[in-house]
Amino acid sequence: MEEIQHYIGGKRVSGTSGKFADVYNPATGEVQAQVPLASASELEAAVENAKAAQPGWAAQNPQKRARVMMEFVRLLHRDMDKLAEALSREHGKTIPDAKGDVIRGLEVAEYCIGAPQLLKGEFSEGAGPGIDMHSVKQALGVVAGITPFNFPAMIPMWKFCPAIVCGNAFILKPSERDPSVPVMLAELMSEAGLPNGILNVVHGDKEAVDGILDHPEIMAVGFVGSTPIAEYVYTRGCANGKRVQCFGGAKNHMIVMPDADMDQTVDALVGAGYGAAGERCMAVSVAVPVGEETADRLMEKLTPRVEALKIAPYTAGDDADFGPLVTKDAYNRVKGYVDAGIEEGATLAVDGRDFSMQGYEDGFFMGACLFDNVTKDMSIYKEEIFGPVLSVVRAKTYEEGLDLAMSHEYGNGVAIFTRDGDTARDFTSRINIGMVGVNVPIPVPLAYYTFGGWKRSGFGDLNQHGPDAFKFYTRTKTITSRWPSGIKEGADFSIPTME
Ligand code: NAD
Repeated sequence: MEEIQHYIGGKRVSGTSGKFADVYNPATGEVQAQVPLASASELEAAVENAKAAQPGWAAQNPQKRARVMMEFVRLLHRDMDKLAEALSREHGKTIPDAKGDVIRGLEVAEYCIGAPQLLKGEFSEGAGPGIDMHSVKQALGVVAGITPFNFPAMIPMWKFCPAIVCGNAFILKPSERDPSVPVMLAELMSEAGLPNGILNVVHGDKEAVDGILDHPEIMAVGFVGSTPIAEYVYTRGCANGKRVQCFGGAKNHMIVMPDADMDQTVDALVGAGYGAAGERCMAVSVAVPVGEETADRLMEKLTPRVEALKIAPYTAGDDADFGPLVTKDAYNRVKGYVDAGIEEGATLAVDGRDFSMQGYEDGFFMGACLFDNVTKDMSIYKEEIFGPVLSVVRAKTYEEGLDLAMSHEYGNGVAIFTRDGDTARDFTSRINIGMVGVNVPIPVPLAYYTFGGWKRSGFGDLNQHGPDAFKFYTRTKTITSRWPSGIKEGADFSIPTME
């Protein structure tokens, strides 16, 4: 059985803990590899490599660090097909979705090429008599990232690209469910010229995560995953004095106003609700048509489109809408929610529970499900399902729809479909959610804007990628200096501000 090794000090190394997890091919249901789960001593080896390499890397000028990113981008393009295939084989998403996963990470690497500009400090000449003052942004040292299964290329790149270009060394603890691509990315960074020890990949579960959170040499931790774990990582990391940012789960609403273009709305809902089998933190999982007539028109157009969705393994070609869920556990969890929705009284308009993929009967395929008449008190509304299940909650008025989205505990993304500028302006101004779309169902910010949820979708005061990432991975030092430097008898070294 293949072992997907750690990547420490610039090379692949076997696990020594004796503990492994199975890595599945979700389309066939077969175990295709094993991933080692790191012990404390394996984490220690990675931190030591990182610590030894970091000062030399931080001392290189930012242009040289940026050139590694430039070359990394070229190598990602070169290996795009190979990366996408490896990603789909472990995650299950279609090849176009897997390429999208790589490309959205690549865009963060492109943004990081601007590091020489983004890392400039400030300077004030003559802040006092003969006194100058300036600030520099310095790397933190060794930092870490803990990432989820659903974007095994993009999210590791969100984390390690800015951290590394700022001069830090990085320990990546990727999801143990699809660990191959993160190791391939680390190898490409080495090939691009990154010194050994600056990017290490340590596989593992809770033990490795706790090791990172308690390690005194790790200065900052970036986490993306489910909300309970995000909160745990935030609390424990902060208690240990680290800088921590954690991004969690979501329940993204789409408000459909009576004046929305219904064909465009339905197109958007089908892609945003079911793409990547709904395993996206920015997926739309709740549609909120405003008014009974809007709801009826929506259901009439949406139902046949959901029924017609094409589900297939990634090997079937590019025209599949989505593939299997990532694991059998994920399949059982999603099915459990659909059963609960029926028990709670929602109307199951499209039932995908009995879907079976011919020739892939052991795969983790779930058909598309569509619920109508969902209400606020139901578990399928309150909780994140993370599968191909869309809930329609009928609202009487715009205010009721707005209030629904605002009172939900999650606040990752939200969208409104309308042709009325006044409504759109009011919505974008009042909504308490981090990423907002107007006639855009999945408003994922590009790499030069920050990405992050509000409420229980995000913990910490800075978001990821964009300028916030450069703030998160550096700290500012302010230096005051007096010139000329010759010491005169009775010289006053205070900084006069009142004369
Ligand atoms: P997860 O929380 O199960 O795992 C995330 C990471 O935490 C993994 O590396 C995992 O090994 C580790 N982990 C799991 N259990 C742990 C424990 N008990 N203690 C310590 N560490 C633990 O999340 P997932 O299932 O891999 O990913 C899906 C979730 O991620 C969804 O909730 C989704 O909304 C969320 N997500 C959020 C964003 C965002 O930007 N807000 C982006 C992508 C995914």
